[in-house]
Amino acid sequence: MNAQVDVVTPDAQRCKSYYTATLNQETNYPRLQGQVSVDVVIIGGGFTGVASAVELAERGLKVAIVEAKKIGWGATGRNGGQVTGSLSGDGAMRKQMRNKLGSEVDDFIWGLRWRGHEIIKKRIEKYSIACDLKYGHLHAAYKPAHMDDLKADYEEAVRRGMGDEVTLLDRSAVRNHLDSDLYHGAIKNMRNMHLHPLNLCIGEAKAAESLGALIFEHSEVLEIIHGDKPAVVTAEGRIDAKQVLLAGDVYHQLEPKKLKGMIFPAMGGIVTTEPLGELADQINPHDLAVYDCRFVLDYFRLTADKRLLFGGGANYSGRDSRDIAAELRPGIEQTFPKLKGVDIDFQWSCAMGIVINRIPQLGKLSDNVWYCQGYSGHGIATTHIMGEVMANALTGSLEKFDTFAGCSHIKVPFGDVLGNPMLAVGMWYYQLLEKLR
Ligand SMILES: Cc1cc2nc3c(=O)[nH]c(=O)nc-3n(C[C@H](O)[C@H](O)[C@H](O)COP(=O)(O)OP(=O)(O)OC[C@H]3O[C@@H](n4cnc5c(N)ncnc54)[C@H](O)[C@@H]3O)c2cc1C
Repeated sequence: MNAQVDVVTPDAQRCKSYYTATLNQETNYPRLQGQVSVDVVIIGGGFTGVASAVELAERGLKVAIVEAKKIGWGATGRNGGQVTGSLSGDGAMRKQMRNKLGSEVDDFIWGLRWRGHEIIKKRIEKYSIACDLKYGHLHAAYKPAHMDDLKADYEEAVRRGMGDEVTLLDRSAVRNHLDSDLYHGAIKNMRNMHLHPLNLCIGEAKAAESLGALIFEHSEVLEIIHGDKPAVVTAEGRIDAKQVLLAGDVYHQLEPKKLKGMIFPAMGGIVTTEPLGELADQINPHDLAVYDCRFVLDYFRLTADKRLLFGGGANYSGRDSRDIAAELRPGIEQTFPKLKGVDIDFQWSCAMGIVINRIPQLGKLSDNVWYCQGYSGHGIATTHIMGEVMANALTGSLEKFDTFAGCSHIKVPFGDVLGNPMLAVGMWYYQLLEKLR
């Protein structure tokens, strides 16, 4: 049992995970040495940085990505792989954006919800990226009270023309989709997708490279130099650019005066079981990705080689868990009693960037230095939307950028000391409210 476990995320290499074990091809980009000049330099080689690079390179700009570790090393290469329309912070967005957008705010948010799917789907096709793309998702009611929310979401989807893609399932219908007694119902959504995120990100990096982008790994940016001609500086090199985009999410420590206390790490753990063979078809015959409706939720799906990939909980102390498999096994066995005693082949964890009001943070640090971060656990689709928003902004179309940049965010004083305890208390409060439902 627990054959191959490794939660270590060594400094400059990838953690041992199902995703790294099934990479199409490892990256081998050079370290930045000497001086380079480009139009836009992007700090961070996760989905935010890489998706923005593709967008900018497609618009004909000379781009460089500078990544401290490896392309896709952060949350991008270690997440649950679920591409869903659940936009983090949509409630807060609706409130804050209403001033600017008026009655169009609901349409704006509905459009955003699905824009990332379009971008990802087209990019996979255009650049022939092999990343195990599959369609189909269940948003499952963990408590009877969750059904009211699901019903409202279903009705909105039908009203907005998605009737062919969504189905509201009652308890017995869920049993036809999952060999589990756990859920009281679900929305089945065939527009939502699941995929191998690390292979997607590396495929997108190659696409950017094919369009002329320069990519550097093992090159931590130590400083951003502001001014008419901004630059980023690493231990061995420097890139001068017309514009800089900071896309390091919760992993960067840059620009503390403006950005410290804005985003906080929550650690999420994921495991994959041994390959399940025919058992996989019994427990999840339609090969759907699933997450439940709780504030801190469990999520799972089958991988291409029919392992169960299962993630859940989150640790708001900002520290890693010691034994992720032991923490997640009860959830797996409660969901699928047939998997009692199943071997866990991989376990890993990663920090995700949590923003207090959950609205992605977009802004400017100076005239030509921009930042984009904070997806609170729902980043695959959103990073791709933001890649487009940022590329538009950097090339002069500021409308959507301004809508996000106009949102106000809480900046926690002494954020490095107080931020995570505050987050933990907030989460505890929301989980308590949920228990009382
Ligand atoms: C356990 C877990 C499960 C998740 N599951 C899902 C899911 O199923 N669906 C979903 O939509 N979202 C999910 N997410 C969220 C999603 O993975 C993230 O929101 C998204 O990947 C963030 O991408 P990013 O590029 O902004 O950040 P990251 O992927 O974290 O990349 C930031 C990069 O910047 C680099 N960097 C930082 N500082 C510097 C510097 N100074 N110099 C150079 N480089 C630097 C880092 O090394 C890193 O590679 C999950 C997250 C976690 C942790």
